Amino acid sequence: MTSTQTRRAREGVDVPSRFAAIDAVKGQPEIAQSDVDDAGDARTATSGVRERAAAAASPGHRARGDGGEPTARLSRRGGGRRAPQHLRPGQETVAGMADFSPRGRGRPHVVVVGGGFAGLAAVHGLRGVDVDVTLIDRHTYNTFQPLLYQVATATLNPGDITWFLRSIRTHQENVRFLKGTVVSMDHAMRTVVLDGGQSVGYDYLIISAGVTANFFGVPGAPEYSMPLYRRTQALALRDKVFAVLEEAVVNGRDRDLRIVVVGGGATGVEMAGALTELRDNDLHVTYPELTPARVHITLVERQPFLLAPFHPTLREYARRSLQRRGVDLRLDTSVKQVRPDGVIIGDQVFLPADIVVWASGVRVHDRVAQWNVPQGRGGRITVDDHLRVDGLNGVFAVGDISVEGGDRALPQLAQPARQGGTYVAAQLKAVLTGRQVTSFDYHAKGTLATIGRNSAVAQINGLPRLTGVLAWVIWIAVHVFSLLGNRNRFATMLNLSARYLFWHRSHNAIVGETPTVILDQVAHRDRVRRHRPDRLAS
Ligand SMILES: Cc1cc2nc3c(=O)[nH]c(=O)nc-3n(C[C@H](O)[C@H](O)[C@H](O)COP(=O)(O)OP(=O)(O)OC[C@H]3O[C@@H](n4cnc5c(N)ncnc54)[C@H](O)[C@@H]3O)c2cc1C
Repeated sequence: MTSTQTRRAREGVDVPSRFAAIDAVKGQPEIAQSDVDDAGDARTATSGVRERAAAAASPGHRARGDGGEPTARLSRRGGGRRAPQHLRPGQETVAGMADFSPRGRGRPHVVVVGGGFAGLAAVHGLRGVDVDVTLIDRHTYNTFQPLLYQVATATLNPGDITWFLRSIRTHQENVRFLKGTVVSMDHAMRTVVLDGGQSVGYDYLIISAGVTANFFGVPGAPEYSMPLYRRTQALALRDKVFAVLEEAVVNGRDRDLRIVVVGGGATGVEMAGALTELRDNDLHVTYPELTPARVHITLVERQPFLLAPFHPTLREYARRSLQRRGVDLRLDTSVKQVRPDGVIIGDQVFLPADIVVWASGVRVHDRVAQWNVPQGRGGRITVDDHLRVDGLNGVFAVGDISVEGGDRALPQLAQPARQGGTYVAAQLKAVLTGRQVTSFDYHAKGTLATIGRNSAVAQINGLPRLTGVLAWVIWIAVHVFSLLGNRNRFATMLNLSARYLFWHRSHNAIVGETPTVILDQVAHRDRVRRHRPDRLAS
């Protein structure tokens, strides 16, 4: 934006791009952005959204009564005590963008982008503080990602691990929720713009939009593998597993079924372990037509070991535990290509697969490139030791999406995200009351991963390294306790108990829809010819 454009925009003067903005907003078909796969956010989010974003980010899309001056870097004087003279919610701005900022109440407006671990911790930390908070998320719910694999393997309901973000108002009156995907940001105008065309002004901005699956440029991976990062993806994976089983009952009894899990981190290990439980504990009861031994689970990992962040003895425990469960481990092996019928690994070896689960690596969302923020390692937003975005006043980035300069890259885990969110809220509180704050200090508490029933590894500060049943019980306790909302804790506890306490009698998988299976007449006749030629003759 040129200085002239900026000035004219601030003055509410028409600029040429405003017409583009109106056209872009009016001319686009409805897009359920939350249904657009992360993996393809740049690829599949359609040009419409991008055009809207571009138009929205252009000058003149929003008239700001406060002059749109950037506030001084976290100084109380410039930090937003002046209330922005926002338009009424829903009121049209000059460029056809509806301003969804709260009505000015004479106090600063904090916008939080992303209601994950980091964003919610920040919002909670601002409870009772003299600010207006707007929490924006592309979903109306928070997802507890560490238990997504339990949804994908039919042990938990999706509702057990998701939490309605609007219910945050039960205990916090200074927050309101806005559903939408943030597509662009204008830090000169101090606005963020959503895919639906709404524009929201901020005095302070906390960016906590997390990350998404990283396919590392492997050909075919985005198209043919199934990532596990969102609730919809977990449900798609679960339904695919049961669709393959139902199909096999009708058309595939004579062939082997294969699932390949890509990635030997916690998600890959947990997923592979849970799939073996489904196979070994349930299949002989629920799918007597199939032979469990003909269901193969393979885990492919680029490193020569599993669970990279753990101590070597715990990695070794996980390896043995998975092997005991019959997982075919391909360590020190890279996936070169994913095809509709399998994966190419190592030196052009083809592994057939009915399902390929992608549990390998994360990266920031493509659209962060439109947010006018500095990006560092892995595209993460660079911050200083106070989690302030480099070069921007009153803008913070926390959780998976941010990275501190130098060698202090925190792990992309729930704990750093939570602690970062809490810290930023405390920092804002301090600034608003004129106090000084020290830099962010992350306290690592430890790491856990489970392989399956009675088997887990735990590396907890102050405790010896743990494996087996004790680690597994700790893993369950920590995960159930960490869920949001008592109902989710009870429901999860109940479903895990139904699964694990009644291990040999509990085969009640939580299932969804599977497509109609069409009998393959040719294969059927072949099978009859081979096994019951007498039937064919008659
Ligand atoms: C399968 C899986 C298992 C995991 N297991 C563990 C574990 O056992 N232990 C552990 O510590 N960590 C685990 N993690 C990592 C942990 O979940 C993350 O580190 C943590 O969620 C990061 O928190 P966050 O707030 O930065 O991001 P998230 O929790 O991902 O939240 C980001 C939020 O931003 C929203 N959002 C994204 N883009 C936009 C946008 N453009 N506009 C509006 N909203 C947007 C999203 O909908 C989401 O609600 C796991 C992750 C996965 C995927």
